[in-house]
Amino acid sequence: MDIDQIVRRAKPQGVKLVSFLYCDNGGVLRGKSVHVSRLAERMRSGVGLTAAMQAMTDMDELQSVPGSGMGPVGETRLVPDADTFAIAPYAPRRASMMCDMMTPDLLPYSACPRGFLKRAMAKAAEMGLTIQAAFEPEWYFARETEDGEFVPIDRDLVNAATKAMKARDVVDDIVEWLEAQGLEVEQYYPELGHGQHELSIRHADALRAADNHLALKETVRNAAYKHGMLASFAPKPFPEQAGNGCHIHLSAWDADGETNLFYDQTETQNLSELGYGFIAGVMRHMPALMALSCPSVNSYRRLQPGTWSSAYMCYGPDNREAALRIPSRFSGAEMASTNIEYRPADSSANPYIALGGLIFAGLDGIENGLRPDERQNVDVDPRTLSQEELAARGIRRYPMGLPQATAHLQADSMMMEAMGADLANSYIAIRRANSVHCSTRGGVEYEVRHHFHKY
Ligand code: GLU
Ligand code: MG
Repeated sequence: MDIDQIVRRAKPQGVKLVSFLYCDNGGVLRGKSVHVSRLAERMRSGVGLTAAMQAMTDMDELQSVPGSGMGPVGETRLVPDADTFAIAPYAPRRASMMCDMMTPDLLPYSACPRGFLKRAMAKAAEMGLTIQAAFEPEWYFARETEDGEFVPIDRDLVNAATKAMKARDVVDDIVEWLEAQGLEVEQYYPELGHGQHELSIRHADALRAADNHLALKETVRNAAYKHGMLASFAPKPFPEQAGNGCHIHLSAWDADGETNLFYDQTETQNLSELGYGFIAGVMRHMPALMALSCPSVNSYRRLQPGTWSSAYMCYGPDNREAALRIPSRFSGAEMASTNIEYRPADSSANPYIALGGLIFAGLDGIENGLRPDERQNVDVDPRTLSQEELAARGIRRYPMGLPQATAHLQADSMMMEAMGADLANSYIAIRRANSVHCSTRGGVEYEVRHHFHKY
């Protein structure tokens, strides 16, 4: 849709405010709204946003990022991607678009997360590849009591009909509203934790997949709100219950998007050399990637062995305790269903940054002709391997906390260069601030409460 088509659609439908949305370095969806009477000109010129917002933590504490211009002086523009225009089915007088951060003269802004993903896609395109991706988010429905306690809406069993029944009204609203926004719902199921549910959107090109993930979160939260509940995508909102993962599925196709280049009919896992190269790149950069895909303090409470959240740096066929699962292919759709699943990811991540980082890591493996270490190909629960076996096979635990992951990111020259100084430095400043914020406040309860609402 072009600008005039959007305005022509919005006005007669009674839309008044159009939100220009962006996801910041803290993984928080934020935005500013424009009145429909000014929409056309604002779509061209963008909406003003202080450059400092990329140095704002998810506690709204501004960080100092020397040399970045992210202080009281400095401006960016939020320029919407017209293809993401959607009238909010849960608030029909509102519409929204996902935005790029641009400079005032409308050049790409160096610290824009969406721009980072676009650069990753451009690099893939240079190598003749188009990346398809899908996010697989889990979340909790809960009610907040007067004492401020979060109580899950059910205590039922995973995949159980009784559990689906209790969430039926809210989930049916979600599905209808996603469809109304043009998102293709793939699957829904009641997950393991009390009050936990999961819904996936069909894979799309990488940029659209990240946009869709944000639209899904926004839709789920609004549906919960309408039904008098809260929805939390925080990585571990209930320390005793299952964590909320947001596994990321990826495949690389040819330039026309016709042939899945991860697929090789003759290979045991149906994975091509290119696919293995991608895996090798992700394995190489995984400690740094963690800071991009598991970026909150609460993320590391989720990544425990034995919780199917994956806890070890290894890969394996249908292995849910491995960082990279190679999913079995669907019969009759072998090529279309060949992909790799990256599991140490959660919805406190900025999807543009997490996916952009993953793509850069995978491409690095392909570019350098890497092969994954066969010893790290694990087809059993890694917990059943002794410490000696794990060490002999080079299988390590993830970085155990946000400070460690952040240090790995800073030490990863490929990733730092791909992000560029402004994005990398502001992103790292926020990770550090988060770690200090939670450790000085102390306690699980504070950490959970702090993450519960925001994600
Ligand atoms: N809840 C698990 C996680 O934290 C994932 C369970 C599953 O395999 O769907 O990643
Ligand atoms: Mg799940």
